[in-house]
Amino acid sequence: MKMKNYVLKTLAYNKQVRIFFLENTDMIKEICNHGNISKSLKTALGKTVSIATLLSGTLKGNQRVSIKINASNRNYKLFADVDSMGNIRGYINDALLNTPLDNKNKLSVEELIGDKGYIQVLKDLGMHSIFTGTTDMPYGNIVDDFSYYFKQSEQTDSFFSVNMVYDGNGEIALCRGIMAQLLPGAPSILIDTIKEIISENQTILGESENFKEIPYLLFRDIEVVEQFPVQFLCGCSKEVFYPMLYSLNKEELVEAYKSEKPMEIVCNVCGKKYSFSSQEIKGLVQ
Ligand SMILES: [Zn+2]
Repeated sequence: MKMKNYVLKTLAYNKQVRIFFLENTDMIKEICNHGNISKSLKTALGKTVSIATLLSGTLKGNQRVSIKINASNRNYKLFADVDSMGNIRGYINDALLNTPLDNKNKLSVEELIGDKGYIQVLKDLGMHSIFTGTTDMPYGNIVDDFSYYFKQSEQTDSFFSVNMVYDGNGEIALCRGIMAQLLPGAPSILIDTIKEIISENQTILGESENFKEIPYLLFRDIEVVEQFPVQFLCGCSKEVFYPMLYSLNKEELVEAYKSEKPMEIVCNVCGKKYSFSSQEIKGLVQ
């Protein structure tokens, strides 16, 4: 089977830097296309998920990374979770999904994040070792804010780039990303060189038919070390939604089972619908 979504892991500049190239057009379409979300929300979610996906390529064993983007309006949040097997999930919280502001005023990503946005990263490194980092978002475009995050919070020189291209109907036509990180001992200035090369070659990134050629088109001294498959995996099940029913008050539940109509809960992450029969609801109340 042809691998649709994957990360090409490479080493470049005499193995002083790792550069990951991500092709995830299909996955981002799948994540962004259920529910009716605006273009800027698709862009914000697509960028957040792409960065998280690039980071999944750095994980080992049962390590996991969770990202939370908090907009200046504290009700609005975006999430992405990844593991070392390339399982990816990303979603927008209810308040942001349902904001009338966005549809009416056509907010840009920068306007959505505002000047008081911040990033929270939680790394579960396994063996009960948790690392958390928080930084503000001086760029407000998510992508450059992650370069800033890594410098501030993890003292790593990094550069991220995410290309999202839309067709004439506002549908996602392409999504690709790059992450470059200097390895210990590499001269700090190297990240600027790489940033320049990637910025000058946006056309190649956005248009090249043969994705696997891109590393060689951009860099002379580069070696592909692995092709790492990634996939959208929500992991939801009916059981996951029982606590949501518990959070309703007892009168609502009694009313629901008396009406003898099933209750339907839709997963915000993948769009899957779960139905709870009046008998199941009755079981919860007793
Ligand atoms: Zn789901």
